[in-house]
Amino acid sequence: MGITDYPRLCPCGTGSNYGVCCGRLHSGAVQARTAEELMRSRYSAYALGNLDHVFRTWHPKTRPSDVTPMDGIAFVGLEVLEIVAGGPDDDIGVVEFRARLRGPDGLSEFHERSRFSRRAGQWMYVDGAIT
Ligand SMILES: [Zn+2]
Repeated sequence: MGITDYPRLCPCGTGSNYGVCCGRLHSGAVQARTAEELMRSRYSAYALGNLDHVFRTWHPKTRPSDVTPMDGIAFVGLEVLEIVAGGPDDDIGVVEFRARLRGPDGLSEFHERSRFSRRAGQWMYVDGAIT
């Protein structure tokens, strides 16, 4: 049974089912329309261990040769703090978010201001400043 075959809440916290939220982007059925959608899909991909999606949506200029799995880390929450740019008509996106993680040492937070660019019509993650 595939990961999209049963209903469950999407890890990104929209309250939608995975299959109609980030699942559509993970399967390639649709492309992200906004930088925020792409950011959410990358968070969900990390949460579900779908590192292919993380790699595919990373700009070739900045992506690592390999995306390292975050073993022992659970992604327990995502909060979008500010969308500076990255709408359907933009070419550059800036989205600030906070992710809550649970690891061997307990809960921690990851706070980043991410930059995105649209490349051949497709949103890509460029880099982020940890704040
Ligand atoms: Zn989602």
